[in-house]
This record gives sequence, C-alpha cells and structure tokens, in this order.
Amino acid sequence: MKTGVIGLGAMGSGMALNLHKAGHLQTLWNRTPGKAKALAGQTNVIPAESPADLAAECDLVIICVSRDEDVLEMVEQIALSVNSGAIVADTSTVSSETAKLAAAILAKKDVAFLDCPVSGGVEGAKSGTLAMMVGGDPETLARAEAVLASIAGSITLIGPTGSGQACKAVNQIMCAGVNQGVTEALAFGEAMGLDMAKVVDVVAKGAAGNWFLDHRGKTMLADDNKIGFKLSLHHKDLTICKAMAKDLDNISLPLVNQTLEHYELLMDQGYGNEDISAVYRLKRP
Ligand code: NAP
Repeated sequence: MKTGVIGLGAMGSGMALNLHKAGHLQTLWNRTPGKAKALAGQTNVIPAESPADLAAECDLVIICVSRDEDVLEMVEQIALSVNSGAIVADTSTVSSETAKLAAAILAKKDVAFLDCPVSGGVEGAKSGTLAMMVGGDPETLARAEAVLASIAGSITLIGPTGSGQACKAVNQIMCAGVNQGVTEALAFGEAMGLDMAKVVDVVAKGAAGNWFLDHRGKTMLADDNKIGFKLSLHHKDLTICKAMAKDLDNISLPLVNQTLEHYELLMDQGYGNEDISAVYRLKRP
C-alpha cells in the first residue's frame, strides 16, 4: 500500500522512518518544511507539496498532528484529492467526536477512516512498538493492518469509529495518575536523602515498576525534561477526558483535575513544551 505521513513531529517522524524501513513509505508532508526535508534526506522519499498532493499519491494516509482542529484541517485538505477506496488513519490523540466528524467528511469521498491513537511514547514511535487502539470497521483495519504493523507492536480493534479515541482517553487518565504517583514518591525519596538512582532501579523491578519510572525517572531527577511528550499536549488530552466525563453518571476525575492544575501552573511558567515529567519541578524538595 502506498503510504503517506502527514505530521513529522516527535511521533510522526519515527513512524515515517519505520514505514520506510518496511518499504511502505511513498511520501510525507509537514507544515514546517524543514522537518520533511530532513526526513526526505534520510529516506530518499520526495516530500509532497501539500496534504492534498500527498493524498492523491497514496492508498493509505497516516496523520499525526497535535489537536482536534489540526486533524480536521488536514482531513478537509485530504478530502480535496484523495482517491476513492483509500484509507485515512489518524494516530493523533483527539476526541471521539473529531474522529466521527473526520469519518463523515471522508465517507462522502468513499474513503474509509480509522481512529488509531497510540501509546508508547517517542521511544515506541522510534522502535515501531507502539500500542495502537483502533476505532473503525474490521474490514478497513484488515486492509491496513500489515502496514500499521510496521509502526505498532500491538494493534487492537476496540469498536466502531471513535472508540479508539475513547480507549486512548482511558490511557491518558491513567498516565496522569502514574505521573502524580511517580513524582510524589520520588520527591519523598529525595527529601529522605536516599540515593535516588538506586531507588529508581530497585523500585522499577518490583510491584510499583512502570513505563514512566523506567523511561523518565532518572531524567526528571537530573532536571532533564526535554524529551518525550509535551505537557501542553497531555493538558489537551485531559481536557478532552474531562469533557467526556461530563456526560457520564457517577464518574469523577480528581487525578485529572489535579494534573490539569499542575500543567496550567507549568505552562504559565513557560514549561509547556517540556515532557510531562516536568511536574517534578512542582514537587521536588
Ligand atoms: P509534536 O512533536 O509537537 O508534533 C506535532 C506535529 O503536528 C508537527 O509535525 C506539527 O507541525 C503538526 N501540526 C500541528 N498543528 C498543525 C496544523 N494545524 N497543520 C498541520 N500540521 C500541524 O507532537 P507529537 O508528540 O509528535 O504528538 C503528535 C500527536 O500524537 C498528538 O496528538 C499527541 O497527543 C499524540 N501522542 C504523542 C505522544 C508522545 O509521547 N509525544 C504519544 C502518543 C500520542 P510543525 O512541525 O509545523 O509544528
């Protein structure tokens, strides 16, 4: 399947390289052209001039941009020239509502849509081991699955359009709690005067071990929050979760509310582009 990638940020660039290694990458496009040029240099793929030009060349278009409005803007442009029978797979984290709107725009062009949000961080995007949660119809996923397998280590069909994003909301709520737990515990350990490198290593091997501790524990202790997942993007995700919870009975999200408050404090201080582990700035002794 001729595959194109729109959005070559921290996640999309790793996906594009893995698609290239697997022989699927036809072309790519990024709003800031320098990122597309850099990847073109590494892959010998010719970047497209626009999202519409990219769509005209591809059987499968993979989107990885920031927010709901960005996804819909890309889908509108793809719809201008996409071939009937093609598939558009959105790996961005957005609302279920946006997934349904995107699917409706593309259905008018006889193009199928999959909401395919992913988890596993920049490391997972680089290694092609992301966990992908899919909303859409099984036949469409069956057509795209071999290609998606070059960016994801696991692909799970959750249900109809929008349910991939609903599953990702579950994931993002859990990440907020893990962030709160890990940063609170490490701040306590540091205040106790422990050798924190040893603490991280041993705790990671026991019942409290988790991905965030493994990948961000030592960097946050070293005050290095450059890599990873921008906290302004997680703020966007948790705002979506909060809006979804409003329609549900008897669901409260105290960890989400606390994390939103922390992110807002950090964004006000100019740390919005740092990794979510920057919450440690607010807790460290
Ligand atoms: P990022 O590094 O900030 O990259 C964002 C990408 O979106 C860039 O290529 C950017 O283009 C593009 N973009 C933003 N607005 C656009 C618009 N209006 N039109 C066209 N392109 C636009 O973010 P990321 O970490 O790769 O995240 C991308 C998506 O994946 C987000 O939805 C995020 O929540 C999700 N996600 C991230 C992680 C993670 O650990 N980082 C993990 C799972 C899922 P420019 O280069 O021109 O700015």
